Amino acid sequence: MKPIDFRSDTITQPTPVMREAMAHAQVGDDVYMEDPTLTALEDLAAEMTGKEKALFVPSGTMGNQIAVNVFTDHGNEVILEENCHIFTYEAGGIGAISGVQSRLIPSNKGVLSVETIEKAVRGVDIHYPETALICLENTHNKAGGTVTDVPTMKAIYEFAQHKNIPVHLDGARIFNAATALGVPVSELTQYTDSVMFCLSKGLCAPVGSMLAGTEDFIDRARKVRKMLGGGIRQGGILAAAGIIALQEMTGRLEEDHRHAKVLAQGLNAMDGLSVDVDFVQTNILMCDVTDEEVDLEDLMKQAREEGVLVNAMGARRLRFVTHYYITEEDIHKTLEVFAKIMKKS
Ligand SMILES: *Cc1c(COP(=O)(O)O)cnc(C)c1O
Repeated sequence: MKPIDFRSDTITQPTPVMREAMAHAQVGDDVYMEDPTLTALEDLAAEMTGKEKALFVPSGTMGNQIAVNVFTDHGNEVILEENCHIFTYEAGGIGAISGVQSRLIPSNKGVLSVETIEKAVRGVDIHYPETALICLENTHNKAGGTVTDVPTMKAIYEFAQHKNIPVHLDGARIFNAATALGVPVSELTQYTDSVMFCLSKGLCAPVGSMLAGTEDFIDRARKVRKMLGGGIRQGGILAAAGIIALQEMTGRLEEDHRHAKVLAQGLNAMDGLSVDVDFVQTNILMCDVTDEEVDLEDLMKQAREEGVLVNAMGARRLRFVTHYYITEEDIHKTLEVFAKIMKKS
């Protein structure tokens, strides 16, 4: 039987509609900018984010790395939330590729404030690096899919503009944030200079992310993408799936969020497990194993034997991510499995 796979929304497979579109996609050499399907995807992404232009990139990591590179010079400093993806999960890329130093600042469960950012902005002093960029992450992955709301985005952007510092949004799951807030994505992205979002996670495309910003930003980003080896040829095959991701998959994320909430409530009600249910705002939930007697590896192994796959986040925490291939029935089955395991232990 097919496992119920909560390890990540990155495991989602392209839908049958996507595969069909991929098979029939019109393609060309995109390094010559002759791929009509890729161009159509880029136009659609620019329109949805309210930006002048957009660029297809092979991964979210590359999109973030390009944005940092375009906005900074070697020796600059970038303000980042301390547990953000760019700092934690991109293999030290911004230091290696762009020669910048990271200024890490704390947040309230992934949500930054103007006050903490303001404290980290460098003044004019011969000893200091120049603060060249502020990066936000919405939803915040490591904090458990938490959402930064529109007024907060606006306040941070207005402050940054006042200081003449660009804002890049790591919006890998920005459609989840917009869904949770009940606003179009452009409501959030209007308060950023650039945004990266993933087509390959909850939106089910097999490969790719989008980077969006001004025309000048994207022209420069295209060159950096080439430098990093991300100039792709007949990418329309991938873009065909991306277009469906944007047109058909962005409207259904509410279902994933509802599933996460039901799962959170159910797990939290079990002895030995604890979930901060109020902070399950989107499709990610963090479940602490509070029963000291329970070995996390063993718990994961028992769940796997019952057909439920989850990832560990640290020594006492499990992370569940809901997505298109997790049904309501799967949620109930999972709760039964965990009830059985926790009762035994
Ligand atoms: C997944 C993710 C990325 C990177 O995407 P990849 O396509 O895996 O490189 C960047 N930021 C956040 C917040 C993510 O969750």
